[in-house]
Amino acid sequence: MDLQLSPEEQAFRDELRRFFDSAVPPAIRAKVRREERTTKEELVAWQRILHARGWAVPHWPVEWGGTGWNAVQRYLFREELFAAGAPEPQIFNVNMLGPLLLAYGTPAQKQRFLPRAARLDDWWCQGFSEPGAGSDLAALKTSARREGDVFVVHGQKVWTSTARHADWIFLLVRTGQFAKKQEGISLLLADMRTPGITVRPIETIDGANEVNEVFFDDVRVPAENLVGEEHQGWSCAKYLLGHERVGIANVGLTKNRIRRIRELAARVRIGQGTLLDDRGFAERLALLEMELLALEITQLRAVTAHAGHESVPNATVLKITGSALQQRAAELLLEAGGPLAIPLQPAEPEEEIATPGWARMITPTYCYSRAATIYGGTNEVLRNVMARSALGL
Ligand SMILES: Cc1cc2nc3c(=O)[nH]c(=O)nc-3n(C[C@H](O)[C@H](O)[C@H](O)COP(=O)(O)OP(=O)(O)OC[C@H]3O[C@@H](n4cnc5c(N)ncnc54)[C@H](O)[C@@H]3O)c2cc1C
Repeated sequence: MDLQLSPEEQAFRDELRRFFDSAVPPAIRAKVRREERTTKEELVAWQRILHARGWAVPHWPVEWGGTGWNAVQRYLFREELFAAGAPEPQIFNVNMLGPLLLAYGTPAQKQRFLPRAARLDDWWCQGFSEPGAGSDLAALKTSARREGDVFVVHGQKVWTSTARHADWIFLLVRTGQFAKKQEGISLLLADMRTPGITVRPIETIDGANEVNEVFFDDVRVPAENLVGEEHQGWSCAKYLLGHERVGIANVGLTKNRIRRIRELAARVRIGQGTLLDDRGFAERLALLEMELLALEITQLRAVTAHAGHESVPNATVLKITGSALQQRAAELLLEAGGPLAIPLQPAEPEEEIATPGWARMITPTYCYSRAATIYGGTNEVLRNVMARSALGL
């Protein structure tokens, strides 16, 4: 979308472009463009580059490493970041832990964790979901018993993204039984190296094992790592999910996918023309682009109306729409890839894999995109939330 930018904003955008052009390591850029998985080392290296430039945590307050940018500048940053094929700063650190501690953390917690989270010295993961407590998160059972100045944590988390890489986890635990299940929940910060924590990777349909089960067997967490009030963790969780859901709209990711669809479809010959000339395909692509533009404008309106690092009120609608558009783009990408996008396994280990490099990630991307309407709260459940909160049904 072309915004009417002021001369200062144009100069700012040019500065971003110059930086991203020269600063993104080419190997990382190539991977991000094809939606190949980047390694932990690559992501840490990239975040350090951003950090050195002062841009690792743009929306945090300046005293904690933020930039002081206004909403348009923050928008332009994300726009140029995605357009340049640069990875997003680590979301659990930057979009979740940071805002959480800024709102609920003690001065000591902020001092100890925020600078390290910004530089990605510590890799954080999110331990909310459990078997039997996903959509109904307040049904969680992982318990934390207070023993003097520690909490003893026992139970299991599931679908914990990147837990294998993580140094720390922020997790919801049950510290008390009350009539309302949302009460008696607390939020703790646990060092993943604490004895009693076991991580077990889960292999998913796209062939990756980014999600994990995390087991807690009487894990001793210092009471100073409690965030907010004991039993009041539900408020922290709701606040944090508001941040998670905005990120999940991921307009930049869908734009990147659309760019690839256009490139690929222009190469697929149909009769005298290409797939881009196929009326059905062109219509679906145009519709997707229009809906993405509408989402982008809605998101811009939301962020400009809601400056600072607080939750955006219509995060729910952004998440529902953004995730559905990501999936539609993944479907069109699959269609543009055609038969070449079918991942072929060699019959013999020494045989060449027939799938060309450019097409290899298309089917895994499509498969993984199914998760976009599940994580951060499923779209079915979020429609219920919207019906209640926005429509009063
Ligand atoms: C790739 C991926 C990464 C994830 N990463 C993390 C992570 O890092 N940390 C973390 O804590 N969690 C993570 N999650 C978990 C995610 O938040 C949950 O999967 C999600 O909240 C849904 O919970 P569930 O899987 O238990 O499904 P369920 O809650 O059992 O839902 C099953 C189905 O029933 C539907 N349903 C349930 N209740 C209702 C209702 N009231 N009305 C209508 N429909 C309903 C749902 O929409 C869904 O289709 C991740 C999930 C995925 C797929």
